[in-house]
Amino acid sequence: MIYLDNSATTPVRKEVLEAMKPYYAEIFGNPDARFYDQATKAKEAIESARKQVSRLLKCEEKDVIFNSGATEGNNTVLKGIVNINDKCKIITTRIEHSSIYETCNYLNTQNIDIDYIEIKRNGEINIESLKNLINEKTKLVAISWINSEIGTIQDIKAISDICYRNNTPLLVDATQAVGKVEIDLTKYKGISFLTFSAHKIGGPKGTGVLVRRKMNGKYISITPLIHGGEQEYELRAGTPNVPGIVGCGKACEIIQKELKENIIIIKEISDYFKRVIIDKFGENIIINNDFDNVYPGIINVRFVGINNELLLHNISKLIAASTGSACSNLKPSRVLKEIGMSSKEISESIRFSLSTNLTKNQIDEIKDL
Ligand code: PMP
Repeated sequence: MIYLDNSATTPVRKEVLEAMKPYYAEIFGNPDARFYDQATKAKEAIESARKQVSRLLKCEEKDVIFNSGATEGNNTVLKGIVNINDKCKIITTRIEHSSIYETCNYLNTQNIDIDYIEIKRNGEINIESLKNLINEKTKLVAISWINSEIGTIQDIKAISDICYRNNTPLLVDATQAVGKVEIDLTKYKGISFLTFSAHKIGGPKGTGVLVRRKMNGKYISITPLIHGGEQEYELRAGTPNVPGIVGCGKACEIIQKELKENIIIIKEISDYFKRVIIDKFGENIIINNDFDNVYPGIINVRFVGINNELLLHNISKLIAASTGSACSNLKPSRVLKEIGMSSKEISESIRFSLSTNLTKNQIDEIKDL
């Protein structure tokens, strides 16, 4: 089976699994118990993971808050920053992952205005539209660095500069960007919050990071989503998932070392994959995201006249792929609709998300389909 659904999740890497193992049954103490070895060692392990994340993203160690992943991080920021008694607004897009989009829909029912930035045909935001929408009522701008369905890489530098100039906090969902593009937060003064999940980079599921950063010397105040403990700088109560955090840190350390090489490898593999499917299917396929500024590991393909779910089902013994985000897989893709595709075109489209481990030999198997 060829696994082409790496945007949905990735296998835990061997080195990550090995790093996690001791923290289940040997160094099992509650890291906040303080007075004995199992506890202090668990605490040290969390702090060492915090260092690994901060090195990857070039942020302060105390900016790193461990949580259960990007869905929680996005919810924490979106719900924690607004005061529903104030008439305020959030600016976002209609192509966000459901953890931003649906949370904004919920907040809208609670008296918060949501404004949507215009999206261009290639999935990039219209920068002028953002400039026009941002005003003194804006509490937050929330945007993904890389889109999970069509791979569009946003101009985060320009977006960050606009938010910084307007003194408006920016939440960047970097779930599909960590380990795919260089993220040096020292270059982005306007990013106040950044979220990602460990399982997209060879780490374990149910673990992730919310980075919060100071603006004008102060952290932006957010109400925690989960109350009831002092853990994680009082921003995320509950006994920390020590093995998960250790795995997250280790995955970040590895991805940092491999990043430059991986950027080259994924482009090569992607080009090969596209050549093979174009040779095989010719005019029966259309690549939906053949744009500049796209992460090459995400290839969204329309099989003209063929229902996507039926096709995925029929090839499921050979290829694992998906119609879009696993978190909102039952509805037609909102992202493809937003870039102008019809319902019929959407119902014929499949997202292939590749990994650097994919070999040309594996891709060649598609020729025999
Ligand atoms: N944001 C983006 C862009 C994603 O791709 C995903 C995962 N599909 C998430 C957020 C949510 O991640 P998780 O399910 O690990 O919380």
